[in-house]
Amino acid sequence: MAIIDDSKVAAARLTEALLSCRKAVVFTGAGISTESGIPDFRSPGGMWSKMQPIQFQDFLTSDAARREDWRRRFMMFDQFRDAKPNAGHRAIARWVEAGIADIVITQNIDGLHQLSGVPAEAVVELHGNGTYAACLDCEKRFDEAALRATFDRDGRPPVCDACGGIVKAAVISFGQMMPEREMERAQEATLAADLFIAIGSSLVVFPAAGFPLLAKRNGAQLLLVNGTETDLDFEADLVLRGKIGDILGKTLLETS
Ligand code: NAD
Ligand code: ZN
Repeated sequence: MAIIDDSKVAAARLTEALLSCRKAVVFTGAGISTESGIPDFRSPGGMWSKMQPIQFQDFLTSDAARREDWRRRFMMFDQFRDAKPNAGHRAIARWVEAGIADIVITQNIDGLHQLSGVPAEAVVELHGNGTYAACLDCEKRFDEAALRATFDRDGRPPVCDACGGIVKAAVISFGQMMPEREMERAQEATLAADLFIAIGSSLVVFPAAGFPLLAKRNGAQLLLVNGTETDLDFEADLVLRGKIGDILGKTLLETS
């Protein structure tokens, strides 16, 4: 494992890897969106330094947990609404446009890859999407603004007006089953890639963090871009350490 912490050199190495691979898979975590103003979970000041995650089982069984989940969701909705893609998102969109990567596997729920121009069908959202909500029983989709008006008025967590079921932000909570189709698509793309680039993830959340490992075991080159150490640094062929926007923003400049 080699570590590079000069952003220019890092960008040059990343560009070289992108231009010489057959097919790359891009895998992102919360770190790619911090430069868009959305806090991550594990950095100092990140969300887990302020609150405990709510388990899916608690969401299902406790009215108080549901209320707390919705209070947090509406806070996040505000952040998502104001956020715009940054240099990191835009660089990845260029790689996809150039055909270097077909798929962006993301743990993020903010929709910023799609906003940066990656076609929705090329984004595999392992942990769902926090920009809308859905009924857990009949899957009816709900608009945030309408739910929020009711929540602000009577403080009660939303229920489905079609079937009376529990409405939940369309994200995968801790303790909730992973989405089957997304897991399959992520696995298929990972096994077909000879370059796997994990960006802005501490790589501690499984099963998501299993994909970089799978790529490596399958013979792909594993490249990590992150500001701090990750749990899988020792598995990587190359670790590019620095600010994501600085590194990604300088890639492929000569061809764009
Ligand atoms: P994480 O918080 O565990 O790790 C983020 C990593 O990115 C950290 O190692 C941090 O040092 C690094 N980082 C942050 N900003 C950076 C920057 N500008 N440049 C370089 N490195 C930077 O996040 P994770 O691994 O994605 O895992 C956790 C979960 O967080 C995911 O399941 C995801 O669903 C959820 N989440 C998503 C969002 C979002 O959608 N934007 C935000 C918070 C959490
Ligand atoms: Zn319903």
